[in-house]
Amino acid sequence: MAIQLVTTAAQLRAESARLLTEKRGTSQGLVPTMGALHEGHARLARTAVEQNDVVVASIFVNPLQFGEAVDLERYPRTLDADLALLDAQGVDLVFAPPVEEVYPGGEPMVRITSGALADKWEGASRPGHFDGALTVVAKLLHYGLPSAGEAAYRAYFGQKDAQQLTLVRRMVADLNFPVEVVAVPIVRSEDGLALSSRNRFLSAAEREAALVLSRALRLVEERANAHEPLDLDSARALVESQPLVALDYFEVVDPRTLEPLAENCRETPFRGEGLVLIAAKVGPVRLIDNVPLDS
Ligand code: AMP
Repeated sequence: MAIQLVTTAAQLRAESARLLTEKRGTSQGLVPTMGALHEGHARLARTAVEQNDVVVASIFVNPLQFGEAVDLERYPRTLDADLALLDAQGVDLVFAPPVEEVYPGGEPMVRITSGALADKWEGASRPGHFDGALTVVAKLLHYGLPSAGEAAYRAYFGQKDAQQLTLVRRMVADLNFPVEVVAVPIVRSEDGLALSSRNRFLSAAEREAALVLSRALRLVEERANAHEPLDLDSARALVESQPLVALDYFEVVDPRTLEPLAENCRETPFRGEGLVLIAAKVGPVRLIDNVPLDS
């Protein structure tokens, strides 16, 4: 394996600086993950490798963004397989710090406050989640800064976590982080299910039932493309007809403000840009998915 594993910020700084010099590189990419990697993460890593001379992937299961301790404990950890997957994409360095490296004094006193964008959708059912997520993203963006000040710096996030992506963009813009945020489209399995590290907790019957999420999104997308009214209620009814699925929300929102575009979505054909968001519990697993609209 050519890939290198580092666990401290000092090693990361030294090794990424060495690589940048060795390759006479002019750009560095960062791919933040929580591990338990799949093809969705691989696509992020591949995109970063295509666009940058040096690529760092981080693997850190961030306690600050988990509401319940059991959820944190249960989160899958598959470091060896993760390293092999990242190596196969051409990633140079993996930063997988222990919790004490990231939070040496325990939980940080000063944190990122994510504001009104974080109160709705995922934030409504996971209080404090986005403050915790943005706080660690802020730290990771600092850890991954290229040592050569003039080198380009890009960070890669999946469209899968659409609200997180919107919030990261806002944080980077509002607080002047010197990084370009690059969004990567959702990777799905052949039958449409958006890949997620949590899918492994679905039983066969639950996995089958979960397909209704992407089916409902596709229905709305097809109506938008055909310039028909979106008729969200019938798409919601489709999801609710599946007994193993408990729908949380299904809305069309403005991609920047995340405010519902309900008026635009009823009787008249959809015009403009939108993002269809869905979240549902399938058995014990909370799943999210989305599809962008542009008509
Ligand atoms: P996670 O490890 O779940 O925190 O995800 C790390 C990054 O991978 C985030 O930016 C996610 O949005 C992205 N990601 C997760 N699943 C997918 C997927 N199916 N397609 C594209 N990106 C994804």
